[in-house]
Amino acid sequence: MSIQKKLTSIRKFIPQEVSLVAVSKTKPVSDLQEAYDVGQRIFGENKIQEMTQKWEELPNDIQWHMIGHVQRNKVKYMAEYVAIIHGVDSLKLLKEIDKQAKKHDRIISCLLQIHIAEEDTKFGFNEEELNALTQNPEFIHLEHIKVAGLMGMATFTDDKDQIRREFKTLKALFENLKVELPTIEILSMGMSGDYEIGIEEGSTMVRIGSSIFGARN
Ligand SMILES: *Cc1c(COP(=O)(O)O)cnc(C)c1O
Repeated sequence: MSIQKKLTSIRKFIPQEVSLVAVSKTKPVSDLQEAYDVGQRIFGENKIQEMTQKWEELPNDIQWHMIGHVQRNKVKYMAEYVAIIHGVDSLKLLKEIDKQAKKHDRIISCLLQIHIAEEDTKFGFNEEELNALTQNPEFIHLEHIKVAGLMGMATFTDDKDQIRREFKTLKALFENLKVELPTIEILSMGMSGDYEIGIEEGSTMVRIGSSIFGARN
């Protein structure tokens, strides 16, 4: 099936109010252009250099989402244009994003990554660290970042109940945090293998790669 057909059929499963990030990491610009031509405007990448190259080549009404783990020394290369940074997992990183956003007179939207999976290879805050962050005066005073929501990745498993439990945990943290931080609106959860569960459990943004563009090498 073509990229356009896959994208169109996936959209049928995604409610209007849920945003679709087309995860195009490792894929050539021509693949992104195909998705663009059927109306896709949000793309997710996990390498800053690759994303920047694609940003330079493709139309400028695309929203670029950084979904990978971000090294602080590379934030400067995307600060001019990145729409949302999904994988923010430390105050140090938030401070660097704030500093680089200020240089471009921007406010960059960030999602705090929460560790919900069983594997310890997945980055992110736990509940205690999240609470410590939002109480920290250094965090409160950052003016060039907007904490727009939370992001999480479930365990890579066939156990759907486990995935659902992990998403429920994330959703509960999201609802709690909303009370404290009125800017919170995005809950980024769900990928090719688990986006249906993500949506059932309250996701507002799914990140789908291989189901649209095919397997990555
Ligand atoms: C690669 C990636 C995705 C997309 O994964 P698929 O299984 O191909 O849909 C989503 N989120 C993050 C953080 C990723 O790194």
